[in-house]
Amino acid sequence: MSPHLLLIAVAAQMCAGQPGPPDPPGRIAVIGAGIGGSAVTYFLHQQFGPQVQIDVYEADRVGGRLATLTVNSQQYECGSPTIHSLHLHMQDFVKLLGLKHRKDVVGKSAIFNGEQLVLEETDWYLLNLFRLWWHYGISFLRLQMWVEEVMEKFMRIYKYQAHEYAFSTIEGLLRSLGGDHFVNMTQKSVGESLQGIGVSQRFIDDVISAVMKASYGQSVAIPAFVGAMSLAGAQGNMWSVEGGNKLICSGLLKLTKANVIHARVTAVSLHNTEKKRLYEVQYEQEGTLGSDYYDLVIVAAPLHKSGYPISFLNLPQSVPDPMGSYHRVVSSIVHGYLNSSYFGFVDPKLFPFSSILSMDTPDAIFHSLESLCPVNVSVGFRRKPPQEAAVWRVLSQRPLDRKELKTLFKSYYSVQVIEWQAFPSYSTAVSSKPLPPIILHDGLYYLSGVEWAASSVEMSAVAAKNLALLAFNRWFELNEKIDQQDLMHKLKTEL
Ligand SMILES: Cc1cc2nc3c(=O)[nH]c(=O)nc-3n(C[C@H](O)[C@H](O)[C@H](O)COP(=O)(O)OP(=O)(O)OC[C@H]3O[C@@H](n4cnc5c(N)ncnc54)[C@H](O)[C@@H]3O)c2cc1C
Repeated sequence: MSPHLLLIAVAAQMCAGQPGPPDPPGRIAVIGAGIGGSAVTYFLHQQFGPQVQIDVYEADRVGGRLATLTVNSQQYECGSPTIHSLHLHMQDFVKLLGLKHRKDVVGKSAIFNGEQLVLEETDWYLLNLFRLWWHYGISFLRLQMWVEEVMEKFMRIYKYQAHEYAFSTIEGLLRSLGGDHFVNMTQKSVGESLQGIGVSQRFIDDVISAVMKASYGQSVAIPAFVGAMSLAGAQGNMWSVEGGNKLICSGLLKLTKANVIHARVTAVSLHNTEKKRLYEVQYEQEGTLGSDYYDLVIVAAPLHKSGYPISFLNLPQSVPDPMGSYHRVVSSIVHGYLNSSYFGFVDPKLFPFSSILSMDTPDAIFHSLESLCPVNVSVGFRRKPPQEAAVWRVLSQRPLDRKELKTLFKSYYSVQVIEWQAFPSYSTAVSSKPLPPIILHDGLYYLSGVEWAASSVEMSAVAAKNLALLAFNRWFELNEKIDQQDLMHKLKTEL
């Protein structure tokens, strides 16, 4: 609960001779137990207090796109592997749950154009800088300044949220951070935006296109805002959770004592009774149909063509259906011997890289190839020497066939394939199409639309905190905490 806000509301209403504020909601349903659903459950529990019952519906596995799989009795991240050090909600969750950062295992990267490596990282920071300058002039400095500016403005959200301000639209949230410029960044491509600040076409073709392919499986046509977020990650300072990133989701649900229901939600319908407005959640659980009633419903699962469909019934306004399509990314976890000759290293002992990014060329067979470390890393752990069998993660547009596997690996013990509906297909977003709504109806909210601005673990957590604050502020009519303009200035003068 947020006691001081509630006290202000009570006091204001008593002074005005009105009855006290409404009772908190009795029951809340959250659909989806990925990081978005788990985080919103935690933040709702914080805002409304422990007396509110929260049911979390999950059709598949807790963690969603935070997932691991097992190779030789060790677990490896097979969904979202890394989190940026400036992603403060994720950092807070790790502390809150008593989890640990996994020990960092250093490794070098290179960019491959389908025939040869075009850029190779070395052990020497200055040499890396020199190489970038030699190949691309000052483009990389321009890029760095651009990304830093975006990140600095993005970080304002933590201050706003600490003061319990919420936004009713994704555009409003972005505008509060970086003005109209941030909203425009969701409609203009990253390639065009970087050209606009003087980054060379060669740097965009060689480096930026490889980072976009590795991060989102898409080209430099993706919007500038999501592009900037992934470029921030490419500059390093990444971490993951010891034991697996998904532990954050299960930990938050356990901490809040949420009631996790393993069922697929099929419909949400509005029921207006004389006394109050309720939402019926209909679900299917092991072939049996069931339903239950709630004061608030949060959809924390992306609504797209290939997802589990949810019908919205009896609402006065129809919910846009479905909200765009998602981009398929295939993750192949291969335990085997890399074919280093394919990358120009006939002697595998001399292959120095732990990850290879592929340039965006028409016949590229993979987006990225990365040697994985297990989710539990002991103190003396080191990467396998390149001539030994290791566990590799290959991201690609479609499943690799035998010939492609043989191209990348001399031989292998096992291949496990997971097909993800991974991220929004962003090329359709580079237009004046509005971002999806957060409020679908009075007490019915949509969290996952934020992915159309940028899909990342932290963006889901930021959206979760915003949504919990919005639901709380709207429930208790704390309108002065919703959609406030010029918050930076307001907070400076308030402090
Ligand atoms: C291969 C890959 C690599 C990635 N790498 C990174 C990275 O390095 N860093 C980063 O920050 N992000 C990365 N991401 C993106 C990140 O994983 C997502 O942005 C984030 O996990 C989204 O979390 P979510 O909770 O919003 O959605 P999800 O994790 O998709 O959770 C939604 C949940 O809802 C459930 N669900 C759906 N429909 C229903 C229904 N009808 N009823 C009940 N349950 C339902 C689903 O089963 C799922 O568990 C990556 C994603 C992929 C796929």
